[in-house]
Amino acid sequence: MTMSNHAIGYDLGNVLEGIMKLYDNKELSKNAVFKICDMLFEILGNEDGNEGEMLEDFNKTRCGVCLRKYQSKEQIFLIDYDSKYLNNYENWNVPKISSCFCRQCLNKLKENQNLPDSFEEDLKKEMNESYDSDEWLAVV
Ligand SMILES: [Zn+2]
Repeated sequence: MTMSNHAIGYDLGNVLEGIMKLYDNKELSKNAVFKICDMLFEILGNEDGNEGEMLEDFNKTRCGVCLRKYQSKEQIFLIDYDSKYLNNYENWNVPKISSCFCRQCLNKLKENQNLPDSFEEDLKKEMNESYDSDEWLAVV
C-alpha cells in the first residue's frame, strides 16, 4: 500500500504559481499555460499526488477556465468530485485547469451543456454541504 504524496501537490502548486506570474507578465500564452498544466497533472498522477493540494491556492485566486484573477468578494463556483454535474463539466469542450470558476464561465457552461435553471441552486446546496461558504462562495 502506498501513502498519498502530499509534498508533490504543494510543490507543483508553487510551480503553477510561477507559471501564472509568467502568464500575467505576458511571457506565456493562455494556450501554453494549459499545455504546461497538462504536464503538471501528469507528474502529479505519477507521483500519487493530490489535485486539491496542488490547486489549493490557485482555486482561491483565479478562475480555472478563463484564468482571470478574482475580484475581492467575487462569487465563485465549484463542481465537486461527487457532483451530479461533474460529467457536464468534464464533457464541456474547453481547456480548463480546475473545476472552480467564475460567474461568466458558469453561464457559458450552463449554456453549452444546456443545464436547467435549477443548476446554480443545486451547485450552491452542494457547496454549502461540503465547504465553508465563506471560502468558496464569497457572496450568496
Ligand atoms: Zn472564468
